[in-house]
Amino acid sequence: MTIKAYGSQAGDRPLEPLDITRRTPGAHDVQIDIAFCGVCHSDIHQVRSEWAGTLYPCVPGHEIVGRVSAVGGQVTAFRLGDLVGVGCIVDSCKHCDDCDDGLENYCDHMVGTYNGPTADAPGHTLGGYSQRIVVHERYVLRISHPEAQLAAVAPLLCAGITTYSPLRHWKVGRGHKVGVVGIGGLGHMGIKVAHAMGAHVVAFTTSESKRDAARALGADEVVVSRNPDEMAAHRKSFDFILNTVAAPHDLDVFLGLLKRDGAMTLVGAPASPHPSPNVFSLIMKRRTLAGSLIGGIPETQEMLDFCAEHGIVADIEMIRADEINAAYERMLQGDVKYRFVIDSATLAG
Ligand code: NAP
Ligand code: ZN
Repeated sequence: MTIKAYGSQAGDRPLEPLDITRRTPGAHDVQIDIAFCGVCHSDIHQVRSEWAGTLYPCVPGHEIVGRVSAVGGQVTAFRLGDLVGVGCIVDSCKHCDDCDDGLENYCDHMVGTYNGPTADAPGHTLGGYSQRIVVHERYVLRISHPEAQLAAVAPLLCAGITTYSPLRHWKVGRGHKVGVVGIGGLGHMGIKVAHAMGAHVVAFTTSESKRDAARALGADEVVVSRNPDEMAAHRKSFDFILNTVAAPHDLDVFLGLLKRDGAMTLVGAPASPHPSPNVFSLIMKRRTLAGSLIGGIPETQEMLDFCAEHGIVADIEMIRADEINAAYERMLQGDVKYRFVIDSATLAG
């Protein structure tokens, strides 16, 4: 079937309306009429070919929520009308150690929701800036938040799981001092989730204007990281730091804030490398520098259920599909509190 989408034909071109096709649902497929799609900084990196290998046309979007509008004959877990979500993963090999562990995100054959290999036309996956998507049931998530919150649930499908997963992996909880660096789409979710896990949360921002706003998200303290005195007050005091910054920056200034055996996980994926950390930042206090990629499907469901239980959704600004290019520019200026979400009804024109 042919549907409306928004995407780009080249890395130096703006996004524009496109007609794309979706496959007829197979036996294990769920067809979803998309209601809303969040706008992740990864969408910008990918559509502008800031990471190698973008395939065109590129239709971004991996924070998808909507309603089931058809199911294949073998699907038992989902029914017509169910509220569901799709995140960054639409396929994987389904039989390697990573898939068996429910860590499809680390499968060597993980297929991203956009720009991944597929038998469907045009030969690579096309994402959620579109009216409809067809996905194997294994990669479909159940949403238990109230329907009125559906738009604000969309960003949980990437920003939510990308922050929840490392916080869980590093066993963040009560009694821990946790930093969240970069208060954008990911960072603002990191603050909310770490706060709900019981940690003492310190937000690090380059934007003076976010000082009060970050407290409202659940940060116990806010540090403007450009201010050396404010940074020095926190030296050697953190158990864990989650770094979401979308640009290269000096990692040593944050590593120096970790106490002995503390860890900093990078989730930000800048187009060019960070200056290397000084090894002494690590060895002097047996510190760890780690990374993390989104999260597996079972953990994404766990995160959605955790957020529903704790009343957590994203803070969003709704946009029309034809406002997407302006929204990208505003994101690059740090001018969004904290996630744009496309109202998919506006794709129809
Ligand atoms: P975002 O909404 O644009 O937020 C990024 C934040 O980084 C900004 O709000 C800003 O926070 C801070 N920042 C500081 N200096 C910056 C600079 N020069 N340029 C841009 N940002 C700067 O982005 P996002 O959607 O949260 O994504 C953050 C990064 O994570 C991106 O690189 C994205 O591709 C990556 N990502 C990774 C994964 C994963 O699985 N690892 C998943 C999703 C996204 P302040 O104003 O508070 O300083
Ligand atoms: Zn994302």
